[in-house]
Amino acid sequence: MYFCGHNKQSIMKEVRVRFAPSPTGPLHIGGVRTALYNYLFAKKNGGKMILRIEDTDQTRFVPGAEQYIVESLDWCGIKFDESDYVGGEFGPYKQSNRKHLYKQYSDELLAKGCAYIAFDTAEELDKYRKEAEANKQTFIYNCQSRKHLRNSLTMSKEEVDKLMADGTPYTVRFMIPEDREIVMHDLIRGEVKVQTNTLDDKVLFKSDGMPTYHLANIVDDHLMQISHVIRGEEWLPSMPLHVMLYEAFGWEAPQFAHLPLLLKPDGNGKLSKRDGDRLGFPVFPMYWVDPKTGDTAMGYKQSGYYPEAFINMLALLGWNPGTEQEIFTMDELIQAFSLERCSKSGAKFNVEKTKWFNHEWLMRKSNEEVGKDYQAWLKAEKGIDAPLDFAVKVAGLVKDLL
Ligand code: GLU
Repeated sequence: MYFCGHNKQSIMKEVRVRFAPSPTGPLHIGGVRTALYNYLFAKKNGGKMILRIEDTDQTRFVPGAEQYIVESLDWCGIKFDESDYVGGEFGPYKQSNRKHLYKQYSDELLAKGCAYIAFDTAEELDKYRKEAEANKQTFIYNCQSRKHLRNSLTMSKEEVDKLMADGTPYTVRFMIPEDREIVMHDLIRGEVKVQTNTLDDKVLFKSDGMPTYHLANIVDDHLMQISHVIRGEEWLPSMPLHVMLYEAFGWEAPQFAHLPLLLKPDGNGKLSKRDGDRLGFPVFPMYWVDPKTGDTAMGYKQSGYYPEAFINMLALLGWNPGTEQEIFTMDELIQAFSLERCSKSGAKFNVEKTKWFNHEWLMRKSNEEVGKDYQAWLKAEKGIDAPLDFAVKVAGLVKDLL
């Protein structure tokens, strides 16, 4: 249970959080940290952790990515209470299998006058963008420009009905209210204010009959009774739109917490796969082969890291316990975790510290456990059948030397 102190009425509500990855490639360690913090928060508060696969953008779908995500989180010890794999009463938990649900919500917003139909083609929008760029400006589809574009706000009802009857492709856009200041509360960042005139009228429903991320995400969070949305900082700019969508539907919004970015070791910018390649450390939990390009990426699992060490290291990138303690088991993390102790500023990835965590965890393992891993490694990598007592002895000797 989590005490929602700042709600209109202070209520005790069941904590339900979700990790909602898009299967567009391997899960970056930043994504694993988001899953981890959701998990720790859920378990700390006696709540539920849900896995929802957000695959509405079919053009970015990568075969094998979902499996990779599921296996990686399992290796990390992050368990779900509800998903398509373990079941649950709010399923299906994959958006492509919920496709039939979304149109009615887009229609509801149209009927309420909170959304409108836009016929502008990709070519037309591209032209406006280029024209704006030539004048050193940026084109956005917003409360000003929408008054001059090809949409149901500027066209007569007859024209709109005719185009739709002819099967002309269209999108549904959210109508951002003009001249409003949106004041929001983020559990990590505190008060966040945005002027609506700076926002664009995002597409909610696409011409291919699929909802966009924004619509599907809000509808599903509502239907799945999500109480807290804990996600990466890159989604902070979407928060005003999401808050306004809840308002337009007349639904109670969940509480939001946007986690700090994971930064490159030198602190200059977001940690990327290229940093890993350049500095020789993995940025993914497991080894990955891209099915299209054949490109490979290193993983912590295959690089000899213990999941306990990997998780311990990630937990402390953006959160601190407020004590000197550095080594934590998953249970200890659950006990100690709170969103209040998450930082607003980016957390620098530290390669040496990551190795240190692995060393600490290795030293905490019994000779038998390390010996078993060593025996399996000898077999898999060198084709050697070593007796267990030999492998255990070697493990003990090596640990003594470390
Ligand atoms: N599907 C989004 C992602 O890939 C989820 C963002 C959110 O948690 O709202 O990160």
